[in-house]
Amino acid sequence: MAEKMVYFFGGASTDGDSSMKQLLGGKGANLAEMTLIGVPVPPGFTISTDTCNVYFHAGGTLPAGLVDQVDENIVKTEQEVGKTFGDADNPLLFSVRSGAPISMPGMMDTVLNLGLNDATAAALAESSGNARFVWDSYRRLLAMYGDVVMGMKPENKDDHDPFEVILDARKEEQGVAMDTDLTTEDLVAVVQSFKAEILRRTGRPFPQDPREQLWGAIEAVFDSWNNDRAIKYRQLNGIDPTMGTAVNVQTMVFGNMGSDCATGVAFTRDPATGERFFFGEYLVNAQGEDVVAGTRTPQQINIVGSRRWAEGQGVSEGQRRERFPALEEVMPELYSQLDGIQRKLEAHYRDMQDVEFTIQQGRLWMLQTRTGKRTAFASTRIAVEMVEEELISREEALLRVPADGLDQLLRPVFDPQALAAAKASGMELAKGLNAGPGAATGRVVFNAEDAEAFFAAAQKGEKVDGLLWDSIILTRNETSPEDIRGMAASVGILTAMGGSTSHAALVARQMGKVCVAGCGALKIDYAARELRVDGKVIKQGDWISLDGFTGQVIAGEVETRPSEVLQVLLDGTLAAEDSTVYQRYAAIMSWADELRSMKVRTNADQPDQSVNARAFGAEGIGLCRTEHMFFEGERIDAVREMILSETLEGREKALAKLLPMQRSDFEGIFEAMDGFPVTVRTLDPPLHEFLPHDASEIRALAVQMGVSFEQLRAKVESLGEINPMLGHRGCRLGIVFPEITAMQVRAILEAACNVMRLGVDVKPEIMIPLVGHVNELTAQAEVVRRVAAQVFEEQKLTVDYMLGTMIEFPRAALTAHRIAEVAEFFSFGTNDLTQTTFGISRDDMNKFVPRYTELGIYDQDPFQVLDQEGVGQLVKMGVERGRSTSPKLKVGICGEHGGEPSSVKFCHGVGMDYVSCSPFRVPIARLAAAQAVLEGE
Ligand code: PEP
Ligand code: MG
Repeated sequence: MAEKMVYFFGGASTDGDSSMKQLLGGKGANLAEMTLIGVPVPPGFTISTDTCNVYFHAGGTLPAGLVDQVDENIVKTEQEVGKTFGDADNPLLFSVRSGAPISMPGMMDTVLNLGLNDATAAALAESSGNARFVWDSYRRLLAMYGDVVMGMKPENKDDHDPFEVILDARKEEQGVAMDTDLTTEDLVAVVQSFKAEILRRTGRPFPQDPREQLWGAIEAVFDSWNNDRAIKYRQLNGIDPTMGTAVNVQTMVFGNMGSDCATGVAFTRDPATGERFFFGEYLVNAQGEDVVAGTRTPQQINIVGSRRWAEGQGVSEGQRRERFPALEEVMPELYSQLDGIQRKLEAHYRDMQDVEFTIQQGRLWMLQTRTGKRTAFASTRIAVEMVEEELISREEALLRVPADGLDQLLRPVFDPQALAAAKASGMELAKGLNAGPGAATGRVVFNAEDAEAFFAAAQKGEKVDGLLWDSIILTRNETSPEDIRGMAASVGILTAMGGSTSHAALVARQMGKVCVAGCGALKIDYAARELRVDGKVIKQGDWISLDGFTGQVIAGEVETRPSEVLQVLLDGTLAAEDSTVYQRYAAIMSWADELRSMKVRTNADQPDQSVNARAFGAEGIGLCRTEHMFFEGERIDAVREMILSETLEGREKALAKLLPMQRSDFEGIFEAMDGFPVTVRTLDPPLHEFLPHDASEIRALAVQMGVSFEQLRAKVESLGEINPMLGHRGCRLGIVFPEITAMQVRAILEAACNVMRLGVDVKPEIMIPLVGHVNELTAQAEVVRRVAAQVFEEQKLTVDYMLGTMIEFPRAALTAHRIAEVAEFFSFGTNDLTQTTFGISRDDMNKFVPRYTELGIYDQDPFQVLDQEGVGQLVKMGVERGRSTSPKLKVGICGEHGGEPSSVKFCHGVGMDYVSCSPFRVPIARLAAAQAVLEGE
């Protein structure tokens, strides 16, 4: 017998449950689970993700036996609902939807109303007594089928959806505004035009055979796993590209059969703020796509939500009740049934759910439940409140907050004064829905392709049309999932249509973008590249500002200021007790700190950065790049003097000028890190980085330094290297010019003595970079030990310090057991280790690594996310070999990966003592380190 590929849901013979997400996809597994717990679900069946993978491996051929299994399940469904697929009198119609193990909202394809054709439509129009609904459903099937299965995409970026064009033309002819105003005759005519358009554009007629329709749709859904937007979404979210999608074939229920029908999307808590409030949107007499696609602005499901919405939109209570009533008012009994179901689902899944429902002629059906996507504000609030409600444990709460998302809590908000001033001067343009929190200010762009291109230019420092587009607000009538690349390039997204549950809003929130949706007052003219509101005109390139917390849209650039968390932690302008956002952040952080075993340090080179990092919870400095101190003010002159000196004497004279400057910086850093370790690295970059390169700059410097232009240019040239990343840098500098290391060690230890006298608990760690051979470290260690002994002798004081090295080359990892004979600690420099393991120059990676990730050659950019399979092996080996010599060897990481959650978890797994990352990523690393403990259990 062929392997089981199809799983039924409906009544007693349901064969799946929520534990089978990998096989049935999230949607399929939850449809089965809802059926099992007695929630009303239209019956149907799920084709497994394994089948999708078999299909792909066979080059797009359906596996043997699938047709029989699908046929059997069609019969089961027919028996359950008492209708027959393809029958003219009483036809069973299906929806065909994708459903991956991890939800990818709107990224893959769906076909609804499948099974309608000229014969079934005519018969059903007759027998149902609701001809308008039947023809409306048929035209929707044609539009979806034409697009999804027959590939009728817009022909270029200015091309409109061909079906919308036909529909709009009909509405104009008839002088009506809404789709719902079209008559049955109009829809019959629209259906004919749609069929003709399909034939004209594809050369093939729309298939009349329901089974042919079904198989076309099943294959199209499988294929949609590999469409452009799904690939991009998986890349942005780190989703495994080999999982495949399931296909859910489900009995259609209709929300568009008349005024006793409705359809909607709801969240068991507010997905933007996390408030415990049943939040949702619905439309009477509509199909699901109308709510999520953003073509009609939906109404709120309950009265409280509806009043809040009306207030925000400036709609009076009377008008609201008349024109935008809540579901709770229109269908009170069904609302209360829905409310009961949402409570049951949240309690059952013990997490915030995102549900889809349809009411068909007074009967409620649930079409989907899944864990709801949410902002970081919402994820922290829901996690903390669910612990208070005793629904989940602290450990579960920690796993519910995506570590990367904490970044959002540290996002800017508008400066209140600047905002008030903008409002007072009449800059307010309009108000939409607050679909993605935060404050964004940027230049208006009207299509996603331009947004992506303009932003890419700005990244290279280039202008387009004379403007630098480093901050973009993507402005659209509605966004489709195709716009995801443009959204990624923007700081904010503004749409004229659509609700808070539209795809645009979901995706924006997940990307952490500021989003204002459904701002109906905007009249966008794509061709003229402008928008109008109340006589005001905003052109492409003009600045606008979005308040994603309130939905306010403001003309012009409005100054932003730090997040509430930053105001409490860094500025002291807000008291902790006045900020619930801060309190929830602090709760999550303290639970994380109790659990994690790794320490979290920061990479900081300045006293003020160290102070910030301490506020974020850094437990020391894991990397102080001393060269960053060389660029400050007049120091660069002394650095250049050192470089240009031809003699040891000359270099020592210049170094003597640098010594007090470095010493005072170290004093500031040691004071800020009182009681915590501070790892200071000796000079790392090649010397020519400190010299100017173009002729006019060389000339100016030569005058300033009193040397000839030729002399200076010759020196610059002599220091030039073919490949400076692999050239004379790191410890190679300190070995050729030991006096540089000597000066730095003196500055570090004199500073340590000075602050120690003031009562500071100082723990310096001196770190030698780019060691590949133990003899290099031995040579530098000799300098360090010698200078230390001199300083302690002079100061009549001894400071405990450690001497260690970075592990940044494969050879260092391979010979870590030898290096550990000299080093007291290791810090993995995974930036250079990635560079040297892959053989990719860090400076040149941009030419091809982005394309590599697009093509799926690399799953992720290895300079951002540690390549565990390759570089990770060297890290693991380095730790093991180092500890084989020195079992107590302290080990950490200080490459960029130290603040990236999956890499932090890897570091925990290989037994590191700490990770070190940039100050703003410290909270992320703290949470990821706790999650690593929980996930490892
Ligand atoms: C590294 O290579 O990972 C590192 C931290 O050093 P840098 O980035 O300064 O080369
Ligand atoms: Mg390095």
